[in-house]
Amino acid sequence: LMHLTRTLIEIRSMLLSIDKSDALKLPSIVVIGSQSSGKSSVLEAIVGHEFLPKGSNMVTRRPIELTLIHTPARDGKEAVEYGEFPALGLGKITDFTQIQKTLTDLNLAVPATEAVSDDPIDLRIYSSRVPDLTLIDLPGYIQIASMDQPESLKDKISSLCEKYIREPNIILAVCAADVDLANSPALRASRRVDPLGLRTIGVVTKMDLIPPDQGALILSGNRYPLHLGYVGVVCKPPGKKGRTESTAQVAQRAEHEYFSANREYYNSSSLMTTTDTLRKRLMDVLESSMASSLHGITNAVQLELEEAQYQFKVQYNDRRISAESYVAETVDLLKARFKEFTTQFRKPQVRAKLKEMLDERVMDVLEQLYWSDRRTPELSDLAADPKVKPDAVESYWRYKLEAASSLLTKSGVGRDSTLLVADGLRGLIDSIAAGEPFTHHPRATERLIEYSHAILRERIGITSDQVENCIKPYKYEVEVDSREWEIGRTEAVQLFEKEMGLCEEKLKDIRKKVGGSRRLNNLVSYVKTLEEKEREKKARMLKGTEDATESNEASTVDDYRYPPAHVLDARHAMLYGERMSILKLRLASLKSKRCRGGPENDLLCPEAFLSVVADKLAYTSAMFINIELLDHFFYQFPREIDSRLLYDLDRREIVEFARENPTIRRHLELQERKDKLEEVMKQLNSLATLRPDVKQQAPRR
Ligand code: GDP
Repeated sequence: LMHLTRTLIEIRSMLLSIDKSDALKLPSIVVIGSQSSGKSSVLEAIVGHEFLPKGSNMVTRRPIELTLIHTPARDGKEAVEYGEFPALGLGKITDFTQIQKTLTDLNLAVPATEAVSDDPIDLRIYSSRVPDLTLIDLPGYIQIASMDQPESLKDKISSLCEKYIREPNIILAVCAADVDLANSPALRASRRVDPLGLRTIGVVTKMDLIPPDQGALILSGNRYPLHLGYVGVVCKPPGKKGRTESTAQVAQRAEHEYFSANREYYNSSSLMTTTDTLRKRLMDVLESSMASSLHGITNAVQLELEEAQYQFKVQYNDRRISAESYVAETVDLLKARFKEFTTQFRKPQVRAKLKEMLDERVMDVLEQLYWSDRRTPELSDLAADPKVKPDAVESYWRYKLEAASSLLTKSGVGRDSTLLVADGLRGLIDSIAAGEPFTHHPRATERLIEYSHAILRERIGITSDQVENCIKPYKYEVEVDSREWEIGRTEAVQLFEKEMGLCEEKLKDIRKKVGGSRRLNNLVSYVKTLEEKEREKKARMLKGTEDATESNEASTVDDYRYPPAHVLDARHAMLYGERMSILKLRLASLKSKRCRGGPENDLLCPEAFLSVVADKLAYTSAMFINIELLDHFFYQFPREIDSRLLYDLDRREIVEFARENPTIRRHLELQERKDKLEEVMKQLNSLATLRPDVKQQAPRR
């Protein structure tokens, strides 16, 4: 029947990993006892190894869930003994001093202010010398609170033990033989929850410290009867050990020697002595306890399973997913979205964007060189005069146009146009990253952005140099044919009309703000008189006739007439007005017969000429940006996703990634829960077929 306990221990671990609710708990053996009662010595004797933390200063601060798994010898060879901390992922530990050290570290990691924690340490030990058992080692009861242990610690330990000694667990109450059983905190605690002693085994340690007749009396259990009885042990660590024997073996032999030496006292068949007997007793008790909980647990698991299956059907229509499939889907989605977005970066789109930037620049150049020039109206007069020969125009205008053209071509077009497109690409990646499901994966998204930036960083320098190089000829000469001229002129007309529209808008806003056009006119004439006065004052000051105080008073009085904000508005309105009149003048020229006449009129129609230059710059830049930046980016980025975002992840990271998405996490969790419960149910059913007495009770499959 070994099989039953073994399977149920497996089932117990599995159920614990599903949830820790009491309903699903199978019995385990809980070890309680006061400090120094010999609790650790007993546990180590059962395991056959020294592995528990040692030290004077309360070394067990967390419960240790100790699962012993019997690994049978194969082909006469004993299997390797090892321990495992499933939660830590340290793998198999064959060195038991390493296990001891790990346990010590885990216990000491509990902060001193907390002293004990109820978060259990899961430790599994595999050995051919251990039986299949689950034992829970708890912090020892303390009798007297000492200086460095907080007053509340006693209560804390008691309530922790209280939690574990509930049904259906079996209580292993450890008491030292040399201390009156009446004073044993372990027995007192067990009596509270198990008054008849139906699930308590007494372990009396240090039997060697009392006279054997007294020892036999204790074990008989007459004074404090326990249904499961007392087992007397001697687990004293040996003073010296032989070269070929382990500590445990020496201790075990010493125990046997002790009890056989006192045979006449302990021979009675009703008395239980030695660790061996204890071990067998524990196996029997656990097994029968497990067997009796089998029916209840089977029903409980069946109910849980039906609920999980129902939910899985209703919520997910039985659709199974895996972390891997989610990652693959996410990457596919990413690539698809990327591809969809890249259509914004075809050559015509890029060219239009660049043209927009250059048009802006053309307007700046015009403002700087023409609109602020008082002679510019002359240009319109010349354009309107049919007698003027294009090649006879004053060289002033030739220099002006050359300056404007070179201002435009030498304004760092290579770098700026490359950066403009690179910025667009960054925005594209950002907008993908800002959408579902990437919002759930901040770390992956961050990496995605990093890769894209790395590609851009690598290409920007090369691209802008290349573009700059290719537009170089335009810095010296720009050839314009009549088709290009006509396109440039039309575009310039549109640009001017747009600009005029903007000025008009601004004027309208100001008019509204100050309260109508009449009010604005008043304001403007007021500002004009102010400016007039200002000029006169300056003139007087230059002559040295001005009295400082007098002028101050005058200006204060004036300033009260209109609020300063409105004065400022009026000044803006005047500027817009001036701008409008020059734009109107130039627009008329651009539409005139002269400008329509072709590229030889470039000096008289600089706007059309600059527009053509901007067109050429945009065309050339777009072409080289496409080759040097976009092609590379569109080729490399999807590959970076594959090689760095996907294949870089190990199994654990893939699961972690998938679980970042709450929808996926819930789906996976329910699916796992259902799978585990199905597995548990399968095992429970296999037990039922093993045990005919349980079979009729087991629910239908
Ligand atoms: P714990 O604090 O309850 O875990 O107790 P330990 O197992 O650390 O034992 C406390 C002390 O009692 C140690 O010094 C052990 O060597 C000693 N001890 C344990 N078992 C026996 C025993 O059977 N006989 C004797 N004489 N000493 C023992």
